[in-house]
Amino acid sequence: MVRTHAILDSVNEALDELRVKGGAMRATYDGGEIGRRTRANGVQVIWATEGKSGEVRATVRSAGGSSTYNVTAEWNGARVKTTCTCFDHGRAGECKHSLALAKRWLENVARPEWKRLTAVKQTLLSV
Ligand SMILES: [Zn+2]
Repeated sequence: MVRTHAILDSVNEALDELRVKGGAMRATYDGGEIGRRTRANGVQVIWATEGKSGEVRATVRSAGGSSTYNVTAEWNGARVKTTCTCFDHGRAGECKHSLALAKRWLENVARPEWKRLTAVKQTLLSV
């Protein structure tokens, strides 16, 4: 039982961390200008990896475009700082490339991880 509690504590910590990271990324995406969020749907994330500090690095390409851009997202507490090598990033907030990365991360990393951790928690609670 002691072990189960220790594992449950770890799962709860992981869920709390994911809640903060996910909330920060969601705020970044939702804070994006509406036209850019729409155009972000046409951006392909062609490569992505997670760094040692948990930051995400990706290479993206716009629909029909031949140029690729390097995008990063780095968490600092409950905030996310993004960078992009395109000229548009930061002119009026997030560019479509960083918004595409944010959306992709929320859908393909955060959501599955949340479901997985929640399933582990339910299993532990049923023991
Ligand atoms: Zn960009």
